[in-house]
Amino acid sequence: MSSEPADLEFDPEALRAKYRAERDRRIRPDGAAQYRGVEGDFGYYAEDPHAEPGFTREPLRDRVEVAVIGGGFGGLLAAARLRAAGIESIRVIEKASDFGGTWYWNRYPGVHCDIESYVYMPLLDEIGYVPEWKYSPGAEILAHARAIGRHYDLYRDACFRAGVTELRWEDPDWLVRTDRGDEIRARYVVVSGGTLDRPKLPGVPGIEEFTGHTFHTSRWDYDYTGGDANGGLTGLADKRVALIGTGATAIQVVPHLARDAKQVHVFQRTPSSVDVRGNRRTDPEWAASLEPGWAARRRDNFLRIVTGHPVEEDLVADAWTSSASLLRNMVPSRAYAGLSPEERDRVDEIADFRKMNELRSRVESIVSDPATAEKLKPWYRYSCKRPAFSDEYLQAFNRPTVTLVDTADSGGVERMTERGLVVGGEEYEVDCVIFATGFEVGKSDVMSGRLPVFGRDGVPLLGTWRTTGPRTLHGFSSNGFPNLFHLGPLQNASSVNFVHVLDEQATHVAAVVAEAHKRGSCTVEPTVDAESEWLATIERTAPDLEKFLAECTPGYYNNEGKPRKRQSFGEGAVVFHELLRNWRKSRMDEVMHGE
Ligand code: NDP
Repeated sequence: MSSEPADLEFDPEALRAKYRAERDRRIRPDGAAQYRGVEGDFGYYAEDPHAEPGFTREPLRDRVEVAVIGGGFGGLLAAARLRAAGIESIRVIEKASDFGGTWYWNRYPGVHCDIESYVYMPLLDEIGYVPEWKYSPGAEILAHARAIGRHYDLYRDACFRAGVTELRWEDPDWLVRTDRGDEIRARYVVVSGGTLDRPKLPGVPGIEEFTGHTFHTSRWDYDYTGGDANGGLTGLADKRVALIGTGATAIQVVPHLARDAKQVHVFQRTPSSVDVRGNRRTDPEWAASLEPGWAARRRDNFLRIVTGHPVEEDLVADAWTSSASLLRNMVPSRAYAGLSPEERDRVDEIADFRKMNELRSRVESIVSDPATAEKLKPWYRYSCKRPAFSDEYLQAFNRPTVTLVDTADSGGVERMTERGLVVGGEEYEVDCVIFATGFEVGKSDVMSGRLPVFGRDGVPLLGTWRTTGPRTLHGFSSNGFPNLFHLGPLQNASSVNFVHVLDEQATHVAAVVAEAHKRGSCTVEPTVDAESEWLATIERTAPDLEKFLAECTPGYYNNEGKPRKRQSFGEGAVVFHELLRNWRKSRMDEVMHGE
């Protein structure tokens, strides 16, 4: 290309061709339909290994001011912010037997958060807690979720081990039904059911024929493996283990399997990019020196950096922030804002090639077998897949007991048999298959129809949205569905630190509900005009990432190679949060009715 600088240390066209070839090798005609849900005969993959069996109770028949659906960080934050705003009657309803969401379910060996704990863990200032590690283990995060529950007295009215099956508006309340026969009336409902909560399995032919042991990483079977999230998987000492998948979860699991199992086969389809981790314990002197408000300031600093806003100092200073400009194809960003679109794409692509070359060199410098190193090299743009970070994963492939099996040519594991897995015509006999194959993505219970919602006059929410597409004000609420609020990705702005985004959403919803409550329980509902205005804003700003994503290797970021237009606020999370703050100051009256 004539516009390319002459002094590049690599050939951009050769890299583009290689990326295209690697993408084409992986595209499957069945796209997202290749996966298998954990319903029916496979329902046991989603069972809760942490809850006491045989739990029963009488169905609830009572009334609360606010029902919060979901006890992960979104629901916890909504409930905590509502409590802090003076609302007494709050019930969190949660399928699991405790708070924690993602961190309740995912307790696999090595589980950590790969976003810095000081910016990821919410309410640190409020609770007065400083995490013990720069990147916290899952157990510390789960303990923090429970601490939030205690601090805000949310255990008092919580309802665990109950899945909400229907929401029905029966003026002036919502009727909340659960799979335990509960009928709870609530003046306000906040839905925060999560979008990565349902494990998925690969649709591999013969999966039911395998006679060995199997489980999904989000329901780790320590009865079988022995040990705990810190490792020590003594039950695997005489076992041949297959791990399917090499996403962010597998990156954390593999070093433990490599240490403890007799033999490990890692079945890879697309390698993750694996950057430096550099975890360390929190320096007690630093912790003691922190001024009130430190966590909120640090979290804002991180958000500004990853969305391309100027900052005086990079407080987090890790692989996320040093590669921040490359994230603009993942989250809306102001990176390179001063350049023309063509210049921006060119500068961005060159920086991306450099970063990926660096990560490919890292593989070579760590993995001693050249053939294995070659297979572990990621050939795609940095933000095509969620970046991963580890100082132990690549090293694990230097152990004689660990073998990498590349399944890209066959679109994944070809077949399962009674004894094991087949790839390239070769059968790998194993005792145990662990699925690190991720989760159904972007399908909240409301959006998938698993949780039916009926608004004013019994109108079904999805019935309306199926014809019009979602219609909301700021992604939170809709006309015809009074006093109902959604948290999560829906016509709003996101970021790589998703819990921060959830906290801003929770703060907003809590402020609106608290105001309605103060005014004497009036009804909160946007007008059709307000929805239309917001929809127009979304359509005007929504990022145009389809071209970029179409060139990526398939995965859940691009709907397995068939990218869809995103309905998100394209000016990014910093601007969105500011917009919400201003709206609360000057326009809240517009959604309050019947004072
Ligand atoms: P992912 O969906 O990211 O990864 C699934 C893996 O399974 C991919 O490597 C995929 O390959 C592979 N796979 C799927 N089907 C097949 C098949 N038929 N044959 C072979 N391989 C197959 O799941 P994870 O559990 O790793 O991550 C889930 C989410 O949780 C992600 O958003 C992740 O970022 C997040 N996470 C976050 C962490 C954090 O610290 N914040 C830690 C861990 C996870 P392919 O790529 O080719 O589709």
